[in-house]
Amino acid sequence: MRVVLLGTAAGGGFPRWSCACALCAAARDGKLPSRTQECAAITGNGRDWWLLNASPDIRTQLTVTPALWPGARPRDTWLRGVLLTDAEADHVGGLAALRGATGLKVYATPPVHAVLAPVRAGLDRYAPWEWADSLADGGFVLAGGLVVTAHPLAAKVPAYVPARTAADAPWVTAYRVEDLVTGRVLLYAPRVGAWSPALENLCASADCVLLDGTHFDASAPEAAARAGAGRAATGHLPVSGPDGSLAGLARHPGRRRIYTNLGDTNPCWTPTHRPARGSPPSRWKSCRTGPSSWSRRTRSVERGEDGAWHALRGGGDAPDTAVPVRPAPRTNLGDPTPGPGANPPGRTASAPVPPVAAAAPRRAGRGPCR
Ligand SMILES: [Zn+2]
Repeated sequence: MRVVLLGTAAGGGFPRWSCACALCAAARDGKLPSRTQECAAITGNGRDWWLLNASPDIRTQLTVTPALWPGARPRDTWLRGVLLTDAEADHVGGLAALRGATGLKVYATPPVHAVLAPVRAGLDRYAPWEWADSLADGGFVLAGGLVVTAHPLAAKVPAYVPARTAADAPWVTAYRVEDLVTGRVLLYAPRVGAWSPALENLCASADCVLLDGTHFDASAPEAAARAGAGRAATGHLPVSGPDGSLAGLARHPGRRRIYTNLGDTNPCWTPTHRPARGSPPSRWKSCRTGPSSWSRRTRSVERGEDGAWHALRGGGDAPDTAVPVRPAPRTNLGDPTPGPGANPPGRTASAPVPPVAAAAPRRAGRGPCR
């Protein structure tokens, strides 16, 4: 399994387009990395790719990610579909940009499908897509050999949905993605309202956890709401505090734990930020970022052995920020013949696809992953 973090910022991006807070100003000045809105892509065979949510920045994110560049023919894509965790505008806003792509399959829960009905009708006029219930039949298998189960985590209704809408429906889910070949598991939960027993069990069985890092402390949602984010600011479990997600993650050492969907007020953007006293000491990744629409630099923020946060700059102009989830050599499922976008023989899934220089000649009949 390979996972590419296409964007790691919460709605509005970082810097938030409408905000001049200290962190946003620092990002605008280039002192902190800029990030596009939260979105990821996964593949089990290096050929068939699936989006985890569709951010409003999806066009830019696809453009700067060589593994997701189109194939050799016009209107050719390795994208097979989208797995939606919820119906929030910053997670479904990119669907319109994908209009016209043939044969996409979109997974979501019934209330998400229902609220998207007008959008679905419009998109299907460009090219009919398949809209599937992510909760049906206990799970589903993606092309490329990934087994997925959806797990309801919260009933947070999107702010644009009328308040009378049923609030006890499964509006927010996490996805558990398992590689059939290696058994390695990714847990994708970019929106978490509370640390539930279900989430505890999901973390226990995962090798890599991508978790909601929108707010650092409990006061952040109210502050963000006062600043204009409204209802969208609520429904996120803070990182810090005795009941925060950091305390929950600390109970699951040995896993790769990565925060995504970071809000613009989250001090984790700052490399020198240290968690408050009392936070669980651990060696975990606070976040790792993908390409941004403002800069092609790839950066991440990591807490080092000394307990401090370190900003890591890597890749130069390389936009590929693949996160290798499994260390074992990759084996294609089904078709033994690598497709035009598949990894060449000898390459393993744990080896990130080298970036393709913009000026590199494209060989006819070969996909961009070469
Ligand atoms: Zn801001």
